[in-house]
Amino acid sequence: MQVIEHPVERLHTALLSTRKDLIKTFQKFSRAEKTLLEDGLLPGNSLFSPITIHSDSDWIPSHPEDPQDFQSFYINPYRRSPKRGHKTIYIQTIGELLNFLKQIKPSDAFCIVGITMIDLYPKESWNFVFGQASLTKGMGVFSFARYDDHFYERSYTGRLKKKIELKQGDYSVFENYYTPPITSVLLLRSCKTLTHEIGHIFGMEHCQWLNCVMQGSNHLQESDRRTLVLCPICLRKLQSAIGFKIADRYKALLHWIEDGADSNGQHSKPTQAFQEYKDWFYKCLRILESDTS
Ligand SMILES: [Zn+2]
Ligand SMILES: [Zn+2]
Repeated sequence: MQVIEHPVERLHTALLSTRKDLIKTFQKFSRAEKTLLEDGLLPGNSLFSPITIHSDSDWIPSHPEDPQDFQSFYINPYRRSPKRGHKTIYIQTIGELLNFLKQIKPSDAFCIVGITMIDLYPKESWNFVFGQASLTKGMGVFSFARYDDHFYERSYTGRLKKKIELKQGDYSVFENYYTPPITSVLLLRSCKTLTHEIGHIFGMEHCQWLNCVMQGSNHLQESDRRTLVLCPICLRKLQSAIGFKIADRYKALLHWIEDGADSNGQHSKPTQAFQEYKDWFYKCLRILESDTS
């Protein structure tokens, strides 16, 4: 295993940039927000950890690319920010992929992301597995079927047993199609993918700074190792696109995880796998709420 440890100075420049105006806008973060973001770059801090490489098949060794710091994100011509009247991120569940694609993106959408539990890899010749996104059009389609722990077993039910010739426009094969049970692990994997892909729609590239949901991932083990949250550098990128108090973002994410729990702690959605992130958000909120400015 190899640990990617950037010098703190380099991470700090990646977060703040070298441009005076961008360093100045960084000062708009509250004192506690700056503490969270800057202390998160220090080796051995308790919130953000370095990226670890476990084999040559991991993303970084197999996809050499320049790392994107805040400044290069900011000047990227493909960077997208929500605009007046185009602020909503639509997440649309789809049973039938192609029917979905016929739908037109709502006029107030920032982007629309279709999600399905049906495997989107019906033929060997198809070159995508988990999904596909058109970054410039603000659209994406993702399947979470392969996040089922049993997907790769021979007995997996959601696989066509024999080759079926599909007539154009006939999607009846998808009717009553098997979809895997929603476990908390599957939900966590799906949340990571959606956050990552929507991050790309904003113009964020793969993160090579710290362990981060924007890290590239080549296989399921690698995405399972990847965290659900943004590192300080990517968090600043998203913050500059949408504008939010970091504490408000973490509270909203906590609310989503905890929403629907009854007095026995039973959830309407399975969230056991999110426990470490719940603890993490509370830890961050303790830092952020120490702020009086
Ligand atoms: Zn990616
Ligand atoms: Zn990052």
